[in-house]
Amino acid sequence: MIEFWMDGEKYELENFTLAEARCHGEDHDCGLTTLDPSLLWRLDIVRIKYDMPIIVTSWTRCKTHNDAVGGSPTSKHIKGRACDLKTVRGGSMALLRQICKDVFPYTKDYPGHIHCDVR
Ligand SMILES: [Zn+2]
Ligand SMILES: [Zn+2]
Repeated sequence: MIEFWMDGEKYELENFTLAEARCHGEDHDCGLTTLDPSLLWRLDIVRIKYDMPIIVTSWTRCKTHNDAVGGSPTSKHIKGRACDLKTVRGGSMALLRQICKDVFPYTKDYPGHIHCDVR
């Protein structure tokens, strides 16, 4: 569970953990967990609407990790304002994509994942 505060209220993101949200990857694990509350709040809505497990392939990224994965220097991932989502096997990417478009102010399709950010 990830707890976060937004507008003076405490929220709980039931289906995700800080352990998975920390900045990490192959040969990298700095543990950074800076995540924008409005990103987490929207992710929770997407998860509830989709009602199936979602895999977050990338959350927040420090500059080093962002460079290592070839992210844009102005990537919203650096600010903890973006996440990349995909379905588990057998899930509907089309449905997840539609929900993300409805919930996030900005989404972009990539091969294998949907990038969502709060700008
Ligand atoms: Zn890092
Ligand atoms: Zn992304």
